[in-house]
This record gives sequence, structure tokens and C-alpha cells, in this order.
Amino acid sequence: MGYVDLYLSGRRISLGEGEEVAKLIGVPFDSTSSYRPGSRFGPDAIREAFSHIEVYSPELSVDLERLRVDDLGNLKFTSNVEEMLDALGKVVSELVGEGSTVGILGGEHTLTLASFQAMPEDTALLVFDAHFDIREEYGGARVSHATFLRRLIEKIGSDRIMHLGGRAACREEWESLEELSLANVPSSTIMLGGAERLVKEFLSDKRRVYVSIDLDVLDPAYAPAVGNPEPLGLTTHQLIRLLHSIRGKEVVGFDICEYTPIYDNGATGVVAAKLLADMLSLSYLARAGGR
Ligand code: MN
Ligand code: MN
Repeated sequence: MGYVDLYLSGRRISLGEGEEVAKLIGVPFDSTSSYRPGSRFGPDAIREAFSHIEVYSPELSVDLERLRVDDLGNLKFTSNVEEMLDALGKVVSELVGEGSTVGILGGEHTLTLASFQAMPEDTALLVFDAHFDIREEYGGARVSHATFLRRLIEKIGSDRIMHLGGRAACREEWESLEELSLANVPSSTIMLGGAERLVKEFLSDKRRVYVSIDLDVLDPAYAPAVGNPEPLGLTTHQLIRLLHSIRGKEVVGFDICEYTPIYDNGATGVVAAKLLADMLSLSYLARAGGR
């Protein structure tokens, strides 16, 4: 028995019987949430929305309905952040070891601390987020959704990381961007256009990529149901265009975090589902292109 059998239960999303695109897991964890809790309900709500949107992408020419996505269900419940990170890291390592692309449905953003460290060492990380999540500590906790990226940089450095969509941080965080040497493409830059080129340049000498999407990178007009909404965010079009700029890179993993369905008017769930569909399509394209 492996960690997948030990820590995961239930299977939800069902597509075609064709080639495997990715393994999918949910992480129903929101214990360090500071403002609007409820992202523990995110994974199943994204699955529900996913089953009601069109998943054929004319732009990417991928028909997910003909491909196979193995949804392994949700990580077993715990309210302890260290326990969640430990179990998730083990599960993701096991799946990556089997050669699968791993898609993760959050849950709060803290999960990326474990999932990214389970990726191959040459994997680049693109983080889409209104916040930098590089606080020294938050609410008395050193490991939380507001500190995870600093904890990650302390472990692996910042060379492989690009942050996109930032606009909401305390003064200390803005000031520590330089000290941490974090490649930073803020929301204001993306608004001016041309950020796709910056992503392509950053990835030009990198083969593999992991994409972490904190849904609050979008403007609350597009994604109101997140834990910490912030104005002046991206449009859905801008985010999708930026994601498509990784086309051709090997997608080893991705996550979609911070969806709090209890605050939704229906908009955020379908946006999250669309992002899931496009990340799966991009994962497939890279796999198909590699043969
Ligand atoms: Mn975040
Ligand atoms: Mn955020």
C-alpha cells in the first residue's frame, strides 16, 4: 500500500478513457485562514462546477472529454498544518515518482509549500497571487497561507520562482522583495500588457514548470469568493493569456487555491473550473509534444 491509498479517499471528476493527462487531488484544509474561512469546501465545489462547464478548448485544440484524468479524491482531514504538509508531500512525491502530472485543488495556499518541494529539482514555479505570502509570521504562526512563500524561499532560494499579480502586501513585504531576489511582475505591470513576454523570458532556460494559482489574483469582480479579496486584480482573460504563455513547457504540477464557495455568487466556481480545464489541457499539450 502506498501513501495514495493511505491518505486519499473518494473519486469525483470523470472524463474520457483516453490517455492520462494528470492525477487530481483535493486538499480540504483551511486551518490558518485569517479572514474568510471555508476554502476546505473548495475542492468539491470546483469539481461540481467543472462538471457543468465546457471543457473542449478551441484555442488550445484539446478535447478533455476524450482524455483521462484520474481524480484520486481528497486528502484525509486534519486541522494540523504540519500533518497536512507531511501527508501532501508524501502523496505528491509518490505520484510524481510514477511520472504523473499532479493537479491540486485547495484548500488554502499553504499547501504549495509541500507540493512544490515534491517536484523535480529543476522545476520552475509561477505563483499567481494578489499577495506575496512572504511575511515572517502571521497570526502567531510561522507556517500559514500568509508566510508559505517565505518558508519555501528559505528552503530552495528564489532563482526558480516568479511571482505574478501582486498588489496587496504590508510595507515589510514590499521592502523584502529585493532582499529575497524574488522575480516580481505586479498587477500594475500586467495591466499595461506584455507580461506574457516576461513569463516566456523567465522560462526560456527552464524545461519544467509548476503553476500555483491563488484565485485572489483575479479582481473580486471576477472571483469574489476567496479568503482575502483585494481590488485592482487581473481579469480572467489576462490570467488565461498568461497561463497560455507556458504552452510547450512540461507541466509537472499545478494548484488552484483559496476558493471559499460559501461567499460565491456562482462566478468564482466556474472560473476555478475553467482554470482547471486549461491547466489540464496545457499539461496534456506538453505531454503530447514530448513524444
Ligand atoms: Mn496566497
Ligand atoms: Mn492571496
